[in-house]
Amino acid sequence: MEFVARITDMRAMWSCVAKLNGTMAAASLKTYRKKRNFRRTPEPKGGAKKTPWKKLIFVIHKHAARQTHYDFRLQVGRALKSWAVPKGPSLNPSDRRMAVEVEDHPLDYAKFEGVIPKGEYGAGTVMIWDTGTYRNVTEKNDKEMPITRALKNGHVAVELAGKKIEGRYALSRIAKGKKPRWLLVKMKDEKADARRNPVKTETKSAISKRTMRQIANEEKG
Ligand code: MN
Repeated sequence: MEFVARITDMRAMWSCVAKLNGTMAAASLKTYRKKRNFRRTPEPKGGAKKTPWKKLIFVIHKHAARQTHYDFRLQVGRALKSWAVPKGPSLNPSDRRMAVEVEDHPLDYAKFEGVIPKGEYGAGTVMIWDTGTYRNVTEKNDKEMPITRALKNGHVAVELAGKKIEGRYALSRIAKGKKPRWLLVKMKDEKADARRNPVKTETKSAISKRTMRQIANEEKG
């Protein structure tokens, strides 16, 4: 009897944890929503309750805003942790790519490709440059560290399985503040390749195979 009671307690506890996670995801989207007018931008508002897939996803958007940059996003719970990477990812382990932490985006944003209208926040064309699944490979003393802790500590290692980009990447925070700065560096593994430069050579959408110009022409409202 006592055992059954304890199991019920555990269930109650887990449903509580699940609810809390939901609330946290909603809170983390506050900044995202505040910056956007959803009557004008085709970007998703977010808030999907269910995740229809099991594996964690990552996406790299190419974003032709005032300055063209790449937005690197990792699924953490029901949000996408996001960094703006001016030069995009490199496959060369000796390159250190600046990555500025920006607001969390909703998970549905991983499927967004289109044009943010003039005058709106981040106006410009957005392409799904690469996407796929990822695995948290952050370790401390040979033990896996949960990604939320790794993010808090400012040292994250992930293994990407995308269409253009694969293998391990390290994200290291180098400055805190309102817009924390990180470095995105390819780790040495069999996917490292100093001769390949996909940011330069692979310029079409990983999903729709469209160029930036095609997206701009087809998605204009
Ligand atoms: Mn951006």
